[in-house]
Formats: sequence, C-alpha cells, structure tokens
Amino acid sequence: MYDIIVVGGGPAGLTAALYGRRAGKSVLLIEKNAFGGQITWSPKVENFPSVLEISGLELADRFVEQVLDKGAEIELDEVTELSVEGGTKTVKTALGGEFQSRSVILATGAKPRKLGVEGEDRFIGSGISFCAVCDGEFYKGRKVAVIGGGNSALQEAIYLSKLCEEVVLIHRREEFRGDKKLVENVKKQENIKLCLSVKVVAFTGENAFEGIKISSKDGEERIISVDGAFIAIGHEPDNGIFKEIAKVDEDGYFDSDEGCKTESQGIFVAGDCRKKSVRQLTTAVADGAVAAVAACGYLDGIY
Ligand code: NAP
Repeated sequence: MYDIIVVGGGPAGLTAALYGRRAGKSVLLIEKNAFGGQITWSPKVENFPSVLEISGLELADRFVEQVLDKGAEIELDEVTELSVEGGTKTVKTALGGEFQSRSVILATGAKPRKLGVEGEDRFIGSGISFCAVCDGEFYKGRKVAVIGGGNSALQEAIYLSKLCEEVVLIHRREEFRGDKKLVENVKKQENIKLCLSVKVVAFTGENAFEGIKISSKDGEERIISVDGAFIAIGHEPDNGIFKEIAKVDEDGYFDSDEGCKTESQGIFVAGDCRKKSVRQLTTAVADGAVAAVAACGYLDGIY
C-alpha cells in the first residue's frame, strides 16, 4: 500500500512525486507515454525561472532524475481504472497491474485538440502530426503547414522553418494569440508564409496525404499543397475514466478548490487536467506542489 499514487508524469505529476517523497511518503508514479508530458514537444523553453533556455526533453529528463533520486517508484503503464473503498484507493492498469494507496493525485494533463474536419483521422500519423520536435525530421527540405495561432503553433513554425524549405502558418484570425516576441520571430523567418483568416475545411489526398483545403471569410475554397501538416490548436483533457470519482466541468476539466482537492476524500488533482485560468509549465509545477502538500496533510490527518 503506497501513501500516494500519482497518475501522470508531466511537470505537475513529477513535482507532486518530488514533494511527496520529500515529505517522507511512499510514492508510485504511473505514466502511460513519455515523462515530461507536453513540455517534451517544446524545442526551447525560455520561461522556466532560473533556466535561461533549455529543450523540453532535457528539462523532462532533469525532472525524472530528481524524482528518482528522491526515491519515487515509477511504472510505465496506462491507468484504466480507479476505485475507492473507504480510505483505500485501487488503481488498475492496462498491463494488468493493480496498486493500492491511501491517496491519489491525478495529473493527467491534456491531449492535443483535433480540428474535427474531413480527412484528419485518416492522415494522422501519415501526413498529420501534433509534434514538430517528434516528427519534423521526416519533412526535412520539404513544404509543411502549421495550423494554429498560439505559442505552440508559433514555436512549431519557427522550429520547422530551420528544417523545411517552406512553412505555411495557417490561422483562423488576423491576430495571433501567442507572445509578441514569438510573433516577431515568426515574421522574421523568410520561409514562413502566413495564411491568415482562413478556416481549414479538409485534409486531402487520394492514397497519400497531399494538402489542406482552406476556406476564406467569403467562402472561397482552395487547396494548399504540402507534404505534412502540424496541428497546434491547443489541448483538451482526457479525464473521462475518472469522472465518477473526481467531478469534471462541462469541458471535462477536474473541479477542484484552490488546494487542488476534489470532493472525494484523498483524491487530488494537479496541472492542465484541472479547471484553471492559466495553463503553463510553472503553474503545472505549482499545482504539483500544492496537491502533494494537500495529500500529505490528508495522510497526516491535518486537513
Ligand atoms: P492556445 O494558446 O490555446 O492556442 C490555440 C490556438 O489554436 C489559438 O490561436 C486558437 O485560435 C487556435 N484554435 C483553437 N481551436 C481552433 C480550431 N478549431 N480551428 C482553428 N484554430 C483553432 O494553445 P497552445 O498554443 O497549445 O498553448 C497552450 C498554453 O501553453 C498557452 O498558455 C501557451 O502560452 C502555453 N505554451 C507555452 C510555451 C512556452 O514555451 N512558454 C510553449 C507552448 C505553449 P484563436 O486565437 O482564434 O482562439
């Protein structure tokens, strides 16, 4: 029986594990894919205090190293079920694992949002990607598109502009949501072409991916031929399997209070998976600490 099981190995979950261990609790952290969550897709992180500049992958490695050094246990597996019986929480996993704990911190993050247009599902993984750092290399010297206008899309476009012959940045408005500094940087890259105030209506191709059908404000449609498309239009939570235990709002984010507590005793939430106004690396890390302190307080009978 563990004191704390942390579900999710992004910055929030890893920080929760760190704080749990530093408080002397036994901690098991379960992650289904890769440690670091969304930051592993960030080629350059410049807003993590005290670190001038670091790749997301390296930052993730440092998080994991620190957590292992402090003695947390780690499982690479997918949590498929969480049940609560009195003070005992049971977590089941896809590989047949069954683990018990006195408290659980859900730090399940969010998954990339899809556009929901024709051809999207067909070409995901063979023309459409959600991660330039992971898949950019496949499009070296070729023409690609990035869809979105936030920091992720701007960063992906800049990253791909160093690898690809041309990057078309497609956004549904004239103004970008992302940071001014990144917008300026995008505009400086000669091989990034802006395609603004257009809607993506379909991904096209007979047998293989060929391009993106866009529609302008006046309804005029045309196809942009590209070798690959990177969708970067934000993220959405994936909390469905936990919603009987931790309440979610209308958008699927966990409801919690300022202390990352849910209405279920001993169940805490942290990071992008919970309802909050700012979803950043630093706020995920902050949540991890808050949730772990709350979990320790619960375990010690303080709250
Ligand atoms: P985001 O800031 O929510 O931006 C999403 C973008 O996608 C917006 O431009 C939005 O357009 C567009 N969009 C959303 N739904 C769309 C749809 N159905 N069709 C077309 N376009 C759509 O998401 P993000 O860029 O992934 O960033 C998420 C958070 O992480 C943000 O807080 C961001 O600042 C942060 N982040 C930080 C870094 C860093 O290095 N510090 C890097 C990446 C992300 P509208 O603007 O028109 O709504």
